[in-house]
Amino acid sequence: MDVSDRLRPALRGFEPYDPAFSPCRVNLSANENTHELPGELRAAINAALLATPLNRYPDPMANELRDALAARHGLARENICVGNGGDELLFNLLFAFGGPGRRVVSCPPDFSEYANFAAMCECEVTPVWRSPDDFSIDADALLAAAGDAALVILTSPNNPTGDLLDRALVERLLERTNALVLVDEAYVEFAPKGASVMDLLPRNPRLMVLRTLSKAFGLAGVRVGYLAADPAVVDALGAVRQIYSVDVEAQAVALAAVRHRDALAPVVADIVSERERLFAGLTELPGVHVWPSAANFVLARVPGAAEVRRRLRDEHSVLVRDFSATLGLEDCLRLSVGTREENDVLLDALSVILREEA
Ligand SMILES: *Cc1c(COP(=O)(O)O)cnc(C)c1O
Repeated sequence: MDVSDRLRPALRGFEPYDPAFSPCRVNLSANENTHELPGELRAAINAALLATPLNRYPDPMANELRDALAARHGLARENICVGNGGDELLFNLLFAFGGPGRRVVSCPPDFSEYANFAAMCECEVTPVWRSPDDFSIDADALLAAAGDAALVILTSPNNPTGDLLDRALVERLLERTNALVLVDEAYVEFAPKGASVMDLLPRNPRLMVLRTLSKAFGLAGVRVGYLAADPAVVDALGAVRQIYSVDVEAQAVALAAVRHRDALAPVVADIVSERERLFAGLTELPGVHVWPSAANFVLARVPGAAEVRRRLRDEHSVLVRDFSATLGLEDCLRLSVGTREENDVLLDALSVILREEA
């Protein structure tokens, strides 16, 4: 029996997500934090897990975690909604504020889940394509497209291009349109201080900021993200979310991590300095163009990218992400920044392959 023609029409054609992981010595494909957790943080997490009973349902809204996150940002509990990763919050935002006849604007190439979730929620998507050269956003085109949109999604730093959003553009969008504006700051901890637009929240009830513990916090496997927004937005999400989507262990681990976040500062600083070293190393390689990045990855245009990625995997056991099939990213690979040793393995392997192919 073929059930695919019984699916809701909007859901036809979607396939199970395949991150194309294969076990490799060095995995720099998913923008995870590959550093070991600092001992102090690991110990706090272990203690929190040991003290967490598993027989009771979680607190649906994770209020203790909300309080810790609110304190981190100088906000109130009512401004924070947690989710099973940022992904759940993205889906719920589109589910709650999108729907048939509603328009969503984003600036590709960006995080592919925006367009996927929007399509599943039957929103129309209007792409405002970035410049193919430096990935900058045409502010006037964005303002025009946002005019009657339900939701505008911007990413800062952007995945996979690494560039930061101009905060003046966010302010203009809020002033000149009626759209809800989501700024996805999944990687903002790796950007220079002052890059976040979180400080604009109190005066702008249509602004929402997405964060995650999957990147800088090194907890991608735990699945915790959060949205900072006006209490009315948080209530709307609270009403539609799967009530127990953030389990007791995830809440306990996240709480320990947020409380001990100072221990992560040296790890983030190391990734930032490794990013610059990786950037410099890549510019030395024949035929490679690399864009500056404010995140924990860099995007590089590499001649024969798909073949280079295959050889990295098969001959050097190094996994990176191939974007060469994505519109606007022909021959582009996204390289997550790993530890010093991992980045050296990547640079050496790339150097061998590119000198052979040249
Ligand atoms: C990784 C990522 C997220 C959230 O990831 P989760 O693991 O679901 O928290 C959100 N937005 C972007 C752009 C990302 O790269």
